[in-house]
Order: sequence, then C-alpha cells, then structure tokens
Amino acid sequence: MKSLAKLNENYQNLKESYLFSEIAHRVAKYTQENPDKKVIRLGIGDVTLPLESEVVDSMHKAVDEMGNASSFRGYGPEQGYDFLRNAIKDYYTRNGVSVELDEIFVSDGAKSDTGNITDLFSVDNVVLIPDPVYPVYVDTNTMNGRKIVYLDANAENGFLPLPDESVHADIIYICSPNNPTGAVYNKEQLKIWVDYALKNDAIILFDSAYEAFISDESLPRSIFAIEGAKQCAIEFCSLSKTAGFTGTRCGYTVVPKDLKVTASNGEVMYVNKMWNRRQTTKFNGVPYIVQRGAEAAFSKEGMEQAQKMIGYYKENAKIIADTLDKKNMKYFGGVNSPYIWFECPNNMDSWTFFDYLLTNAQVVGTPGAGFGTNGTNYFRLTSFGNKENTIEAMERFAKLF
Ligand code: PLP
Repeated sequence: MKSLAKLNENYQNLKESYLFSEIAHRVAKYTQENPDKKVIRLGIGDVTLPLESEVVDSMHKAVDEMGNASSFRGYGPEQGYDFLRNAIKDYYTRNGVSVELDEIFVSDGAKSDTGNITDLFSVDNVVLIPDPVYPVYVDTNTMNGRKIVYLDANAENGFLPLPDESVHADIIYICSPNNPTGAVYNKEQLKIWVDYALKNDAIILFDSAYEAFISDESLPRSIFAIEGAKQCAIEFCSLSKTAGFTGTRCGYTVVPKDLKVTASNGEVMYVNKMWNRRQTTKFNGVPYIVQRGAEAAFSKEGMEQAQKMIGYYKENAKIIADTLDKKNMKYFGGVNSPYIWFECPNNMDSWTFFDYLLTNAQVVGTPGAGFGTNGTNYFRLTSFGNKENTIEAMERFAKLF
C-alpha cells in the first residue's frame, strides 16, 4: 500500500479503550434477552440532575444579549472573561486559597486541559501515574511516547499511595478526591507529595474535578492549600460534577506564576506564560453563554444550589455505603466523593462480578479492571443515579450477599 504522511506511531501503543463500550454491549445483550427485567445503572460517572435555576437564568439572559446588536459578543479572551475568572478567584478565596486572576485559565473542561498540558513537556520526562487511574492521563502520555512509571494504589495504602523516594519522576499525576477509588488525600499526605516534587524538580498535575464533594473541612480541596505547591503544581478543575456541567462544558486550570523551569540553555521558562501561549494559539475560548452560566454557579446562591445537588448525590452514596456496611464489605470513598470502590466478593474478578450483578440483581456498575491492573478485583459504584433507583438497586444487592 502507498505510504501517506508518517503518522504518530505512538498511537499503536494505546490500549483499546473498550470499558464503556463493553459495558454497553453486555447490558444491551442482557436487556434484549430479558426485556421484562428492570436494569438499574450505577456505573456511569455522569450527572443526572438538571442544571440549577441560577445557572439557567443567567444563560437565558446571556442568550438574549447575544441576540441583540448592542450586547452581542464575538470572540472572547482565550483565557476566559474576567467576570468568570474573578468568580473563580472568589471561590478559591472562600475556600481559603489565594490565586491571582491571571493564574486562572477557563476551558471547556478538565479532560481537555489534563490532556493538552502534555504539550508543554518534553517527551523524555518520566511520568508517574497511580494505578488504578482516570485513563486520560495514561492515554495522553502514551500518545506522546512518554515513559510512564506506575505507582500502586491498593487496600494496604488506602488507595492513597505516597512517593517512593528511590524512584525519580518529572511529572506526577494526582487525582483527589479520586476517580475511581473515591479516596481523598489529607494535607499531611499532600505535603509529602509537594516535598517530593520540589526535591525531584518535578511538576504535580493535580486533578481536583471532585473537590466540591469534600465536606470534611480538614481535607484540602486544592493542592494550593499546601505550602510550596505554587512552586511545583498545576491544578485542573471543572464545573462538570460541581454544578452538573458535563454537557454544558466548562472547566478551569490554575497555573501559578511562580512555577518556573530552567531550560537546557539556562533560560528560565515560566509555565504560566507557556500555557497562555499554548491556549492563545490552539484554543479560542469557552462560549460567552456558558461562561455566564459558570459565573452564576460560582456565586453564593449558585453554590448553595450546587451543594444541594451534591447533597442529593451524597445521600445516594450513603445508601450504597450503608448497604456495604451492613454486609461487612469494606469499601473506599463514598463520603467526600461520589464514587464507592470495593473488592469484589467471593474472589470474583471485576468482569465476572459485573456479569454476576447484572444477571442476578440487574444492577450495572463499573469493573475496576478498566482503570488499571490494581482494579482487577475491584468494582466502582457511583452515586449519580436517582434516589429511588439507588435504594432499589441496593435492596437487590443486599439480598444477593
Ligand atoms: N478528571 C477526572 C478525574 C474525571 O473523572 C473527569 C470526568 O469524569 C474529568 C477530569 C473530566 O471532566 P470534564 O467533564 O471537565 O472534562
């Protein structure tokens, strides 16, 4: 065959991402064969409640502005409008963390930014990624051909691994509250990570997409609550799970101005400036209407409404956790997180347990194997369903064990 342009052959090293398609396939087959059975899905990581009224009202107003010549807006600033950056800055301040306006970059979500940030790093960096993990970190670095070193998260370390001082890394991914395990680092643990990063001249890429689920005030909602983090960390966050924006799309990334690296020619390079250059070159901003919705979500009233939605999901998490408690099944997460992670009963591997639960209780969860080797015998349930279904699913679950 005639050879066209040379492709990025790193794509050959990507593992097939079959987790959610395989789940969909198995569920479709089951429902086809058992049309009278009611299947309840507690597997998805997507929200189900509609947008709150503060957000909807604000977006309605913004639509009207866009339809009027005197208030119409075209391209906005790539970094986000100041009204939203100010709202995010205030939100950080209310949570006890100080960030500057030009350290905040508004985006269309944390998935894009956690993937796109890899543009800034040379291919010969060693990347440290916990296992199990949100698969985007692994796949984006594989696409670039970077060497990945895995760090075991397991029951022994409470799925909160700490650095192995004998291993050097240049880039470190941390997700807290964690997807898929629901585990949350405390301040002392994050300080150990920050100290390790500073010692290794490494950068921490901190994904706090689920920070709004933290209700224990002693737990950090931002890496920047930790001393020294502004010299070694970038934070990714999102309105997806905070305010139900999975389909509306808005996130933000905080790149401290203190974050600097000395290049091989001795020149000091500022990561904030580089990210700004990257975004202004490759990204044309989030829609004005969405940014007005996001601004409303960050207002005091908006956050109260968002916290009500989160409270609803957390009640579901409690229903799941209470059932596992009654059955003496140990689990992780579920308190400061929407995810509950537990070992599959009776030594089943996660796909066997998936089939068992689907066939015997018509409940769908997510097999831990989809998140890494250490998930092989684990299972993830989520609290993003509706309450009645969650209750019914867990009643069925309880009868099984
Ligand atoms: N980070 C983690 C850990 C996630 O679980 C998700 C979504 O499930 C994302 C980022 C993506 O968020 P967004 O919808 O903002 O792209």
